[in-house]
Amino acid sequence: MILPPATLGMLGGGQLGRYFVAAAHEMGYKVWVLDPDPHSPAGLIADRHLVAAYEDYVALDELGAHCAAVTTEFENVPAATLDYLSKFIPVHPAASAVAICQNRIAEKRFLADNGIPHGPFAVIESDEDIRASSETLYPAVLKVARFGYDGKGQSRVANRDEALHAFHQFKGEPCVLEKMLTLDFEVSVVLARSESGAVRCFPVGENSHRNGILDVTIAPARATPTQRDQAQTIACRIAESLGYIGTLGVEFFVCRGELLVNEMAPRPHNSGHHTIDACATSQYEQQVRALAGLPLGEPRQHSAAVMVHLLGELWSADDHYREPDWSVLHAVPGLRLHLYGKHHARPGRKMGHFTVTGEDPVVVLERALAARAAIGIHDA
Ligand code: ADP
Ligand code: MG
Repeated sequence: MILPPATLGMLGGGQLGRYFVAAAHEMGYKVWVLDPDPHSPAGLIADRHLVAAYEDYVALDELGAHCAAVTTEFENVPAATLDYLSKFIPVHPAASAVAICQNRIAEKRFLADNGIPHGPFAVIESDEDIRASSETLYPAVLKVARFGYDGKGQSRVANRDEALHAFHQFKGEPCVLEKMLTLDFEVSVVLARSESGAVRCFPVGENSHRNGILDVTIAPARATPTQRDQAQTIACRIAESLGYIGTLGVEFFVCRGELLVNEMAPRPHNSGHHTIDACATSQYEQQVRALAGLPLGEPRQHSAAVMVHLLGELWSADDHYREPDWSVLHAVPGLRLHLYGKHHARPGRKMGHFTVTGEDPVVVLERALAARAAIGIHDA
């Protein structure tokens, strides 16, 4: 067990890392963050912020020398970086697990090899792969295998010609071509798995997206008990097959009542933000616990919760840059506002979120959606 006042290392300085730092601090640990952005949200509150690239081996040596263990909040940290650090200190999750989650081709093959339900797809590495792709995949979505997020690096295509065009726009980068599914809704499972193999799942969340970016999470999800059980069972199987240690997010499509895995995130998940305000242990505390080898906490959800993301466009609602009027949100009973301290509000950038909690899930949802509209988020 790694106990306070030990120092933990975090690769990545985004909002997920910031909450890890806060959870670790509450528990008596120190945290060093490595992130190239001098204004990164986690770096701002860390005990030390190494402003360096993920491939900067001088900085990695320093991190390895001062930290008792290291984790990540950003799935695109090079697997080689995790491998390198693991020669000196424990690194969780392992490079092998992260490498699968950060490459859509490896991820789909992992799902297929392990008999985990997923949608129809083809691996696209050449024009020929598109010509050979089955007619039944169309309409489809072409996704670059690496470095896509928030719907970036994706193109909806009606047929092979459009797929070819999109593939060329992506400069021939390896891709997956997925059948465009008609979704009943989307859910996610966030879980934590410890070194001893113990797994604790948070209740299933229900997610809606806007322009490819998570907009609202309703927890628990309005899914059937069977769907919720199945989602948790599948997520546990994935964690076990990956030999995963840490907090893991698994996204699902619900398609004609059936659960299909969309993708995995080898880190806390944005759909798990409400665990801070609505669960006995947050997903970030679980990440600290798994990394430090402590027993995992109780994931019990004590309040119904709805999380709403606050994106950068809110800062420029009427064509000039201004701070939204937060007093509107603070007037809502049961609402907690979270802002990440990000420097500049670009459209689509996750600047913060709010969580509404309460006893009655219907009231909580109504309040959250009314607050979302009042602050100026409107459906397209
Ligand atoms: P990201 O890494 O950006 O989260 P995803 O693959 O999860 O990428 O896609 C973002 C969102 O786009 C999904 O949550 C879903 O709403 C929609 N989407 C992606 N792939 C499909 C698909 N094959 N069929 C239907 N909707 C999809
Ligand atoms: Mg996704």
